[in-house]
Amino acid sequence: MHRIVVLGAGYAGMTAAVSLAARTKRHEDVRITLVNATERFTERLRLHQVAAGQDLAELRIPDLLAGTGVELVCGWVTGIDADARTVRVDDERVLEYDTLVYALGSVADTAAVPGADTHAYALDSAHDAELLARRLSELDGGAVAVCGSGLTGVEAAAEIAEQYPGLTVVLLGREEPGENLTPRATAHLRSTLDRLGVRVRGGVEITKVLPDSVDLAGGDSVPADVVLWASGVRVSPLAAAAGLAVDERGRVVTDAALRSVSHPNVYAIGDAAAIRQGYGVMHGTCQGGMPTGVHAAVSIVRELRGKQPTRFRFGYLHTPVSLGRNDAVVQFTRPDNSPKQLCLTGRLAVRYKEEVSAAPWPSFARMLKLPASGSFAWRRGGRYTR
Ligand SMILES: Cc1cc2nc3c(=O)[nH]c(=O)nc-3n(C[C@H](O)[C@H](O)[C@H](O)COP(=O)(O)OP(=O)(O)OC[C@H]3O[C@@H](n4cnc5c(N)ncnc54)[C@H](O)[C@@H]3O)c2cc1C
Repeated sequence: MHRIVVLGAGYAGMTAAVSLAARTKRHEDVRITLVNATERFTERLRLHQVAAGQDLAELRIPDLLAGTGVELVCGWVTGIDADARTVRVDDERVLEYDTLVYALGSVADTAAVPGADTHAYALDSAHDAELLARRLSELDGGAVAVCGSGLTGVEAAAEIAEQYPGLTVVLLGREEPGENLTPRATAHLRSTLDRLGVRVRGGVEITKVLPDSVDLAGGDSVPADVVLWASGVRVSPLAAAAGLAVDERGRVVTDAALRSVSHPNVYAIGDAAAIRQGYGVMHGTCQGGMPTGVHAAVSIVRELRGKQPTRFRFGYLHTPVSLGRNDAVVQFTRPDNSPKQLCLTGRLAVRYKEEVSAAPWPSFARMLKLPASGSFAWRRGGRYTR
């Protein structure tokens, strides 16, 4: 019996689990276990919508996996023993593996400044987003500070401002919002934030989060009834604690086939992995995370058949950014994520973004029936990754 344990049922881990199930259904000697904190699939791409009070579809992982033979263990992974090849869940259950797929994702870096961990909300899980939604719905006027002017901060600020026009939403961060987009896309993003009443303060350094304000370098303080931390990326300390080789951010360093460079029986995928391509180390996206899940599954099956896994290649296609429910901008990119001239704005961009956000769940079901459908779903990056 070859035991494969997949840790994390986010975009990358779900993709790996369904691809593995579909590709090993005739192998009676393969057992797949998927471990996740919740039975409900977290649509992380939509957590800013949840924060603004919108209800999402109830996507239940056990329903999707019914009849596939994959065992779902619902619990919190608390330890990995890479020598004994075991995983501890909720400090009590121990799972043994021959191959591990590490897909525990990432969270906002609330350790970056004092007070963020204690006083700020985050968009790391559905529960976090629901807590923020509850708090926002209780406010009768007041100010919300969104810390982090990257795309997650932009999406959250726009969504909250649109839903709660009576609140003052301030977007704070080092970069000017939309900095990595073309001038046209940036102009649209900025004018939409203006229209929604979001007050943008780019080029600032946040130094501390307090219960009722955010301190900036230089002595300025921004009053805030609610603070959302949407800046930086932090990963689970479990990989480093298990002795896997990790980069300076704690992400598992992989070889070209997505195996840990220190422990080749561990595949690392999605945001939790440091995956090098010709243009640099990939940054965490769903766009790149799902292909890593397919590639890991294909490679594991190749290894089961005594073949060598192949090299993973990935090139970015787009950067879709929602700006509330009625506007959006989609920046098309080169494989290295640099912007092309082409971008969509307005209603067309809203439709495009919605298609992108809605696609993962049905594509899991499709991959179960037609595993090859997953393998064609991404750009290999051409000369950028050759
Ligand atoms: C508001 C927002 C908007 C975004 N928009 C976009 C976008 O438009 N396009 C895009 O490409 N990307 C977007 N992203 C980024 C994208 O969501 C991530 O890159 C993606 O979720 C990474 O997938 P993953 O499978 O690696 O991790 P995740 O989706 O985070 O999944 C990790 C899973 O592991 C589980 N888990 C973690 N630790 C444990 C543990 N110890 N025990 C048990 N389970 C655990 C979690 O519960 C989760 O289910 C957005 C992110 C946010 C927050």
